[in-house]
Amino acid sequence: MKKILNYIDGNYCEPISETWIDNYNPSNGEVYSQIANANEQDVEKAYEAAKKAFPSWSNTTIEERSRIMLRIATLIEENLEELAYAESLDNGKPLSLAKAVDIPRASSNFRFFGNAITQFASEAHESVGLNTMNFTLRQPIGVVGCISPWNLPLYLFTWKIAPAIAAGNTVVAKPSEITPMTAFMLGEICTKAGLPNGVLNIVHGTGPSAGQAIVAHKNIKAISFTGGTITGEHIARTAAPMFKKLSLELGGKNPNLIFADCNYEKMLAVTLKSSFANQGQICLCGSRIFVERSIFEKFKKDFVTKVAQLKVGNPFDENTNIGALVSKPHMEKVQSYIEIAKEEGGIVLTGGNPVVVKGSENGYYLEPTVIEVFDDQCRVNQEEIFGPVVTLMPFDTEEEVINMANGVEYGLSATLWTQNLDRTMRISKKIESGIVWVNTWLNRDLRTPFGGVKNSGVGREGGFEALKFFTEPKNICITYSE
Ligand code: NDP
Repeated sequence: MKKILNYIDGNYCEPISETWIDNYNPSNGEVYSQIANANEQDVEKAYEAAKKAFPSWSNTTIEERSRIMLRIATLIEENLEELAYAESLDNGKPLSLAKAVDIPRASSNFRFFGNAITQFASEAHESVGLNTMNFTLRQPIGVVGCISPWNLPLYLFTWKIAPAIAAGNTVVAKPSEITPMTAFMLGEICTKAGLPNGVLNIVHGTGPSAGQAIVAHKNIKAISFTGGTITGEHIARTAAPMFKKLSLELGGKNPNLIFADCNYEKMLAVTLKSSFANQGQICLCGSRIFVERSIFEKFKKDFVTKVAQLKVGNPFDENTNIGALVSKPHMEKVQSYIEIAKEEGGIVLTGGNPVVVKGSENGYYLEPTVIEVFDDQCRVNQEEIFGPVVTLMPFDTEEEVINMANGVEYGLSATLWTQNLDRTMRISKKIESGIVWVNTWLNRDLRTPFGGVKNSGVGREGGFEALKFFTEPKNICITYSE
């Protein structure tokens, strides 16, 4: 059976414990590979490799770093078919999605930061009349840790690694143990692209073992983490006494605010995507749908009709809209929320049941589910489900919908549908979230700051924000005589 090995100091290696974790194919429920079960010792070995590589990498010219990163981007593109297949097999997402979104974006991450680093500059401040010149030197931090989740595996893994290495750091990274395959494949690509040994080290294994060892390592000075809010809280608690730099991108419970004056057809089509893309397993999915009362009944009917037409199926079937959920425990968690919704008095308008896919009977398939709820404070409207389940509620006034949109502990993104510019600005300013999309969704320009407020995290990724995170600013103050 295929073995997913650690990638340390430019070489693939077995875990020191010589133990392995089963890796499941969510589309049929079968174990198809084995993952290195890395522990503290493997992390130490990865750290030592990264430490050794740092002096040279941090002094490598920007042009050379950029050249290698662009080469990695090109190799990802050249291996798109193979990587997309692996991503889909590991995660359960439709192959078409992995081909169109996940893998191209992983390539873009390297290309973007490979170019961005050539434009990254710092400030200078002349203290006029004092013969003093200050400037900010932005230096790489050293060895940094990157930990990513399973929903967009290579996409989010590279979103952290690319700015980290562009800025001159060396990295110890861990993908989710649930979806390690494309991170494993990235090692070989980096070697082929000429990335020096030890600049990127990838350890596989569980969060509480390998992940925790990265976070708790006293010499790994910065942690960039994307994952659940509870894990983020644990990481913050571990890292805070060591005063580590932290970037935490956590959960979401994102609202859609749909006004009667919107472009209805466009809104309907995009809302279908924002609800169920990647089986609803995107932190930016709009899982709470608030609709102005005058169009609520029409929307409910049209939306439910379209949702019921979505095809749940094997990820490799080109007609599939909704693939498999990532794992059995996750599927059970999502199903438990459908039961909670019913107990709370919610009405399942469509979906709610597992789907048996012919030829893949043991896969983790669930119907896309729309639930009408009557209290925005109910659990199913408050807690992150992270699956193909959305809630629906009408509203009457702007004030009411803003209160409901903000009435959760999360604040990652919001989507607003209206043609009224004044309302757009009024609401965008009042919404508590890191991103507001107006008449669009998941429209990403990699130069923009990305992240959340409240329990959705601290810090921002993207563009120069990420390069700032992965560098330490130092003030150099020089006085001179006339
Ligand atoms: P988890 O928090 O369970 O895991 C995320 C990563 O952290 C995994 O690699 C995991 O390893 C690791 N991990 C788990 N425990 C620890 C620990 N104690 N110390 C260090 N690392 C640890 O999240 P999921 O993988 O379940 O991902 C889903 C969550 O991610 C959702 O809440 C979603 O909203 C959020 N997310 C946020 C995004 C954002 O940008 N804000 C984007 C995408 C997802 P392992 O899996 O091997 O146990």
